[in-house]
Amino acid sequence: MSNTIFDKILAGDIPVDSVFEDEDVLAFNDVNPKAPVHVLVIPKKRASRFSELSGRPIEEIGRFFAAVSRIAALLDLDENGYRVVINNGPDGGQEVEYLHAHILGGRRLTWPPG
Ligand code: AMP
Repeated sequence: MSNTIFDKILAGDIPVDSVFEDEDVLAFNDVNPKAPVHVLVIPKKRASRFSELSGRPIEEIGRFFAAVSRIAALLDLDENGYRVVINNGPDGGQEVEYLHAHILGGRRLTWPPG
C-alpha cells in the first residue's frame, strides 16, 4: 500500500505540525502523543516497513538514523535521554504502513513496553 496517511502528509495533502525537514526526512509531532515529546520521523525515500531496509543502501539507512539522532538533539532530549521506537508489522504494533521512527521523551519511560 503506497497511499497511507504518511504518503499524503509527505505529498503536502494533509497538514502536520512539522518540527524538521531536510532532503532525507520529514519530522512532525504525533497527533496522539504518548509522552511530552512525541515526534515521528519519516524518510522521504519510501519504505513500508523497517524490514525493507535490509535491501537498501547503507548510505540511505545511515542518513535516516543520523537524522533521527539530530532531530532528538534539536528537541533538546540529549541530556535526559529519550527512546526511539520503530514498530514493524502487525505483531510490532505498526498501524501506518510507511516506515517511521517515534522519538519519545520528556518523561521517564517504563520498560518493557506492552
Ligand atoms: P505506528 O503504530 O507505529 O504505526 O504509529 C503510527 C503513529 O502515527 C501513531 O502514534 C499515530 O498517533 C500517528 N498518526 C497517525 N496519523 C497522524 C497524523 N495525521 N499526524 C500525526 N501523527 C499521526
